[in-house]
Amino acid sequence: MSWLTDIARPEIRTLQAYAHADWEPGLVRLHANELPWRSEVDHSIAGLNVYPEPHPHALMHRLAELYGVPQGWAQACRGSDEAIDLLIRCYCRAGQDAVLVCPPTFGMYGVAARIQGARVLEVPLRRAADFALDLAGIDAALAQDPRLLFFCSPNNPTGNLLDLTALLALARRLEGRALVVVDEAYLEFSGVDSLSRRLQDYPALVVLRTLSKAHGLAGARCGTLLAQPEIVSMLQRVIQPYAIAQLSIEAVFAALAPGPLAATAGRLEVLRAERERLRAALQAHPQVVRINPSAANFLLVEFRDAATVLASAHQARFLLRDFSRSPGLGNCLRITIGTPQQNDQLLACLP
Ligand SMILES: *Cc1c(COP(=O)(O)O)cnc(C)c1O
Repeated sequence: MSWLTDIARPEIRTLQAYAHADWEPGLVRLHANELPWRSEVDHSIAGLNVYPEPHPHALMHRLAELYGVPQGWAQACRGSDEAIDLLIRCYCRAGQDAVLVCPPTFGMYGVAARIQGARVLEVPLRRAADFALDLAGIDAALAQDPRLLFFCSPNNPTGNLLDLTALLALARRLEGRALVVVDEAYLEFSGVDSLSRRLQDYPALVVLRTLSKAHGLAGARCGTLLAQPEIVSMLQRVIQPYAIAQLSIEAVFAALAPGPLAATAGRLEVLRAERERLRAALQAHPQVVRINPSAANFLLVEFRDAATVLASAHQARFLLRDFSRSPGLGNCLRITIGTPQQNDQLLACLP
């Protein structure tokens, strides 16, 4: 065991994991108090009357393969939201340890930290530099010894990619003391390589991926943490047995078959083209002040009067995400790229 285990919470390091019922698929299950008959509404492959595999190995193998990491370097979770929560619960002692976040960014890092009672150190992105990292600010915050540093690239809600060289340098520097978590929820829309290729060289690095965005499976709730096996096994102590529902497991396998994967790639092409088309059209609109560079499936747009735009969009039955009251995001709305027809209708309804 290495420092990756030493920096975890002592309660978790010594935790005896829940002893779940034996998993031997060929045998008749009279050991888990399940009903021996399937419900008539059960159209699953495996049967919903029985518990799913406690820690779904075949699924994790498939996800490791999808994301190009060795077996044992991938942990499936109920969305990457759960991976964020598990990381903080494993590594942050309540009332003592801190996480570092760079707002404006995904809200779950801060929420999960506060639930665990971890301190939240904020080093805002530099609005004047298209929301790039404030490297000097991060440097200064390291004096407070954060245990986990959360970065999102492409960043939600700003859309831009972060400086990956700087993140790797940080991971190198923090070896022995902290983990650098890079949330790549929108990576597939960017055309950029995943940092997961660097996991073997950078033990402090953790990468989060999800099937919720590019793969169109938000409802199945399947995210993946990619990291050194020691970090993966720390999370396995804390994640609930049977966390991933059988219907989700079956949906993921179906979506990751060759045909559906090719269809996903085709949809990504369309989406990226639509992003650039919507950007150009919005750029020419008199209500638009500025659009942040985006490598994701959304645009962060600063309007002259965000409230008016929001009201017109709502009238036309569109929901947009209002960030106008967030610090540094006055008059900004986040617009998800829709189908070509939805994008046309949205453009048509703008005031
Ligand atoms: C949407 C989103 C997620 C959530 O992913 P799930 O896998 O659905 O939990 C994680 N991180 C960021 C930055 C997101 O925008």
